[in-house]
Amino acid sequence: MARRAKHRYLARMNAPLPVPPKQRKPDWIRVKAPTSHGYNETRKLMRSLNLATVCEEAACPNIGECWTKKHATVMILGDTCTRACAFCNVKTGMPRAVDPLEPEHVATAAAELGLEHIVVTSVDRDDLPDGGASQFVKVIEALRRNTPQTTIEILTPDFRNKSEAAVEAIIAAGPDVYNHNLETVPRLYPTIRPGARYYASLRLLESVKRHAPHIFTKSGVMVGLGEERLEVHQVMDDMRSADIDFLTMGQYLQPTPRHAKVEEFVTPDAFKAYAAIARAKGFLLVAASPLTRSSYHAGDDFRKMQEARAKQLAPKGASGAGA
Ligand code: SF4
Repeated sequence: MARRAKHRYLARMNAPLPVPPKQRKPDWIRVKAPTSHGYNETRKLMRSLNLATVCEEAACPNIGECWTKKHATVMILGDTCTRACAFCNVKTGMPRAVDPLEPEHVATAAAELGLEHIVVTSVDRDDLPDGGASQFVKVIEALRRNTPQTTIEILTPDFRNKSEAAVEAIIAAGPDVYNHNLETVPRLYPTIRPGARYYASLRLLESVKRHAPHIFTKSGVMVGLGEERLEVHQVMDDMRSADIDFLTMGQYLQPTPRHAKVEEFVTPDAFKAYAAIARAKGFLLVAASPLTRSSYHAGDDFRKMQEARAKQLAPKGASGAGA
């Protein structure tokens, strides 16, 4: 009897750990598997240049659509992040040394993909004295040298605990769009974005606008993490106080069962309601839908922002052609 109990105990101990059930996605989230020729070409180019992309590392649901059009968001400073946010699929650990060839490789990728607009992001590099800011500067300079017609959008970390000079150097390099995502409402920071501080992120964006009002500023939030509607409205108000031009909002999707759970699948109609409120609060541009991501349709949205600003600055009474 004792032997049978021991046998049952050992069988239980050796059984694989239960895997949490996969959360079923609603129909409006489904996307096609990436298979196109354009997708394969983009993938091959990134591999040959030894470049990481946030499209792959973050398991973005739009990769099939974006890469078919050869729109990829390059992730500089390696593929290993020094933080461990509960929503993010990028691996955490001790990153490798910064690749000095990376800026030229990014410029080559932009040229070969024929990009009119490029989005460059990075992992967090808390291990570097400047948080990796100088690499952003080098990438911007390489792009301006090699593909001067390409407009540049950067999506940076928060550079928390780094000197202001680090961010000022990036601003001086002159990106067209400076993006930094607030990601979620302040109440959820301790669990979702524990290494970051909500007001530090806001201050970063506010300081970009103060130093260079002509640079478009942009920020995004994910919904479905357990935030309340009024908390999201408050984030919009905070963003407007920091004079942020462009708000992006998308549905959070759990990349693996180890990551934060989806608390709610926000309906497309609820996204429309958020977008209407955000527009009323005065953003120059708003993109809000379940599959919206910071860099989704970034080139088209950049042109929309330019048009919106031109309209805003036009003397009263001058009606634009086709307006
Ligand atoms: S939305 Fe952005 S991150 Fe996602 S695949 Fe497109 S370019 Fe890449």
